[in-house]
Amino acid sequence: MQGMLSKVAQRMMTLPQIAGPHGWRGGGLGTRNQPRQPEIEPRPCKSKTGDPHPGIGFGASRPNKAKDNRQLAPKLQGVVRPTGIVYGYFNGFRGLRTASITVKGRPRLTGVTIRAEGEEVVDTVWWAGGVVGLAESHFPNPTEWGYAGGGGRLDQLTVKVLTALFRDLLVKQPSCMGNWESRLGPVPWSLVGARYRISLLSPRDWASHFKNILHRALFTRQINPEAPSSRCRCCDRETETIEHLASCKVIRKVFKFYDKLTGIKPTSRTERSRYYLLGLTPGNSPLPAGLTNLWLMVWKFIIIAFTTVDILGRKFIPDTVWQGALRRYVSKANALATRVALGIKGGVGVRSSNRQLEPLANIDADGKLWWIQSIYTELTRLQIV
Ligand SMILES: [Zn+2]
Repeated sequence: MQGMLSKVAQRMMTLPQIAGPHGWRGGGLGTRNQPRQPEIEPRPCKSKTGDPHPGIGFGASRPNKAKDNRQLAPKLQGVVRPTGIVYGYFNGFRGLRTASITVKGRPRLTGVTIRAEGEEVVDTVWWAGGVVGLAESHFPNPTEWGYAGGGGRLDQLTVKVLTALFRDLLVKQPSCMGNWESRLGPVPWSLVGARYRISLLSPRDWASHFKNILHRALFTRQINPEAPSSRCRCCDRETETIEHLASCKVIRKVFKFYDKLTGIKPTSRTERSRYYLLGLTPGNSPLPAGLTNLWLMVWKFIIIAFTTVDILGRKFIPDTVWQGALRRYVSKANALATRVALGIKGGVGVRSSNRQLEPLANIDADGKLWWIQSIYTELTRLQIV
């Protein structure tokens, strides 16, 4: 054993107990003044300069400290006490030579030894060269946990690896997309995603559909354990799921006029779901923006009324919902026409403004808004104009 220790280490271990600059007073003397096997193990941790960090108790001013510390670095452990975690180096019946932890997570011996039982002493978790806690209570332990995408130890991930992992998360298809496709087949997501933009409508108008329907966050009775029944709150006929909304005889009445405008009559349950819930035509040909905007507005009012049934006990009345949606749509169109008329276009010209209303209305060069005849008749019936 002696041959494995450097001369300096031997001298240190045969010296009387020293209170070094870091306060180490620990033993090191074997019986009969012979150096005994050190209870401390080699420590691989090195600083940029090649020196192991100071703080494990040996004097910083001693010569060849780097070499010696590498050989004599101990294994830091800890015990839980009412005042918190006490770190230190356990030495059986001699107890735990306690260490304080610097702001960088490095242990420094305090010179105080406390009693500790072997079974209560546990290993420590290190994160990038510093102590962060006890293995049994600290999460995550970088030696046990990692990113599902790979990259190695948590505390050794580089910016490059992290960037790749986060990018993978972003490019991964959101779960709602998979949910829809497993139910309704392939969905042209670029077409669906292009509708949610600030143009005629604002996020206040389309966020309701985006969140509740597209992202399937609507709190239906099927998933509400406190609902009076799992049957649809509007028709009381089928289990209330998001898919049911497209086939619900009451809710579909709201779309009666919209269906006339699009001229589309979906023939199967899947087609109805794609058409009403996702705004897709049977051939996936895009609908004009004016119709899509109206469809989003209708959903905003459906979701308000639908939620109100269970919260306030109000009946879902399709004509009232449709009237509210159309009224709001008209006010949006009027606001757009006013912006055009005033020349405050916010980067939106007459032509692009008209694209947002197509084919339901048109803004002329003077900024006057003209509705197509069928809408105008409907607006008159509902006393909106
Ligand atoms: Zn229903």
